[in-house]
Amino acid sequence: MKLLNLSFSEIEELVESLGEPKYRAKQLYQGLQMGKKIEEINISKDLKALLAQNGYTTGGVEIHEKFVSKIDGTIKYLYCLEDGNIIEGVLMHYKHGSTLCVSTQVGCRMGCAFCASTIGGLVRNLEAGEILGQVIAVNRDNMTKKERAVTNIVLMGSGEPLDNYDNTLKFLRLVSCPEGINISMRNISLSTCGIVPKIKELAKEKLGITLSLSLHAPTDEMRKDIMPISKAYALEETIDAMRYYVKETGRRVVFEYALISEKNDTKECAEKLAKLIRNMQCHVNLIPLNSVHESGLSGSSGNRVAKFREYLEKDGISVTVRREMGADISGACGQLRRSYLSKEVK
Ligand code: SF4
Repeated sequence: MKLLNLSFSEIEELVESLGEPKYRAKQLYQGLQMGKKIEEINISKDLKALLAQNGYTTGGVEIHEKFVSKIDGTIKYLYCLEDGNIIEGVLMHYKHGSTLCVSTQVGCRMGCAFCASTIGGLVRNLEAGEILGQVIAVNRDNMTKKERAVTNIVLMGSGEPLDNYDNTLKFLRLVSCPEGINISMRNISLSTCGIVPKIKELAKEKLGITLSLSLHAPTDEMRKDIMPISKAYALEETIDAMRYYVKETGRRVVFEYALISEKNDTKECAEKLAKLIRNMQCHVNLIPLNSVHESGLSGSSGNRVAKFREYLEKDGISVTVRREMGADISGACGQLRRSYLSKEVK
């Protein structure tokens, strides 16, 4: 059993079931949330022994390696899971705080053409405590006296969060728990490639998180080329699901659009995109694509990005262009893990 999968009240129940006083639950829970190992936590020797005898581990992640940008302090992490699998994440610093991009699966089975995370397929889902463990490990690594380092979270690392729905939902509840790390749902964004039934299920939870759709193409024909998920769900029903999310939650949704040179960055594409999302409470985030060596796709030039933005803004659509963070340690999502794995193989 893994302790980081448990909520505060479940830890209370566990401690009582082991015959220990309830107040020890708070010490145990707080120690875990600070990233301590069981042996480092200020609890009785008896409780430590009972936890060990009953096969409890923390179930978090260990930082295996990190790469710090000399330009803007962005940190890329490789984490090791208890079973030896490797995942990655990135901490980005902004004026308003620091955002941690977390992974929800080891690998991914969604097959997006521009993404390195999917090249080896899905290895396994992460448990809720392993997603939470990434936040805890980074907080511990960047400990300041006053505050925790991570103020915002994006579920945009390796894996499709809605393909690991139950663990993702559990993680969202654990990370926003007032007795724990207590990050507001409003400071969390979840990015999906568009699993329509799960978008609707999530909408009904009314969690207050921001939902982003990796859109990347304005027609079914083009999207099928780069995102196999669109063979299962047509663009129209995917956009309808996003409208439903807005209606149910009152939250503005985000469309992520990675600009691939000469493929989806033309004037015609911008016009089609504008038509698709017209009259929706939404925002478009343009992403100059990082080249993924294995895919043969290359990102649009600055000039083409600016033109695409202009076309959308003329139509009254709110647009930002994602700033490249940590250019000196760059690499598209999933590349760090892949280069680690290929080093291991050699
Ligand atoms: S972009 Fe996301 S959903 Fe698509 S393959 Fe990569 S990790 Fe999976």
